[in-house]
Amino acid sequence: MRKVGKILKKINLPCPASYDEPMSRHTSFRIGGPADIFVTPRSTEDLARTYKLLIEQEVPTFILGAGANILVADRGIRGAVIDMSGFQGCSLSQTGDGGTLNASAGTPISDVSALALDHGLSGLEFIYSMPGSVGGSIWMNARCYASSVSEVLSRVELLDETGTITEMEVDRDQFGYKRSPFQNSSSLILRASFALVPGDREQMREKMRSIKQDRENKGHFLHPCAGSIFKNNRAFGSPTGKLIDSLCLKGTSIGDARVSELHGNIIVNTGSARAEAVLELIRLLETKVREVFGFELDREILLVGQWR
Ligand SMILES: Cc1cc2nc3c(=O)[nH]c(=O)nc-3n(C[C@H](O)[C@H](O)[C@H](O)COP(=O)(O)OP(=O)(O)OC[C@H]3O[C@@H](n4cnc5c(N)ncnc54)[C@H](O)[C@@H]3O)c2cc1C
Repeated sequence: MRKVGKILKKINLPCPASYDEPMSRHTSFRIGGPADIFVTPRSTEDLARTYKLLIEQEVPTFILGAGANILVADRGIRGAVIDMSGFQGCSLSQTGDGGTLNASAGTPISDVSALALDHGLSGLEFIYSMPGSVGGSIWMNARCYASSVSEVLSRVELLDETGTITEMEVDRDQFGYKRSPFQNSSSLILRASFALVPGDREQMREKMRSIKQDRENKGHFLHPCAGSIFKNNRAFGSPTGKLIDSLCLKGTSIGDARVSELHGNIIVNTGSARAEAVLELIRLLETKVREVFGFELDREILLVGQWR
């Protein structure tokens, strides 16, 4: 990896790079060992050059949004992390029957929702106060409060490994429950457009307030976490959190990793939890649910880095 570090320096990329960067600084779980190389490009040109170079050098490369849906191994990430936080900002094109909000991939998705409210544009209220970036939310097709990102997404700008930028009109048939076409692609999400409709500001504000309140009541922001560990499956008849609650597993701990007392589908870091402890707890929940209900839980959280 040092070799790639030297190459990056030689061609004098203007984007900041650090070595052995603790990923615990960049994940909502506050967990994760060092990434060999961590780069934060600030222009599309630098991003394209960096990505192309890393791929040419066959360096395994992970694209980081806000780190709100990942569990990074204690041993860290071998290869490079491209941090998208340098790409932030929104623009608006308003029409008589609504408007389109364009947002850069690193922009917090909740900020996009708040901006839509400022302009009286409805459609993104459901995602207010959810941690995560625009790029990560599209890649995951994040879903909450009965809506998915794909329902308001109209266009995505992508960057491929050769440095080419393309635009894609969204075909909703390519998206599903927490599934997006980008999960099978090596292209990076650069920018996205959301098609919104005129809304009543007071009603929108009230919906967003109650969603934030609901998240607070469920303890989402009390301890570092990554939201739901498992997906829900209608065939199970109950949300995964309820299944886990019914087994009296809330509060179960391994080291500093604990199943939240307030929500069975959330694991929290109560201090300095290790990724291995979180994974052990995940496996324990999977085993108990399998033994009692015969259901195979489907993980929503992504394991990243060098696992045993
Ligand atoms: C308290 C809390 C509550 C949560 N509640 C919900 C919820 O209600 N619903 C829900 O769906 N999720 C929820 N989550 C999980 C998380 O917020 C979402 O999955 C979010 O969409 C992740 O975005 P991110 O930017 O953090 O992505 P990351 O975790 O950084 O990355 C996730 C994936 O996206 C890829 N990626 C990120 N950016 C790009 C890009 N620009 N181009 C290509 N690939 C990219 C990464 O490589 C990775 O594979 C919650 C998390 C927390 C901490």
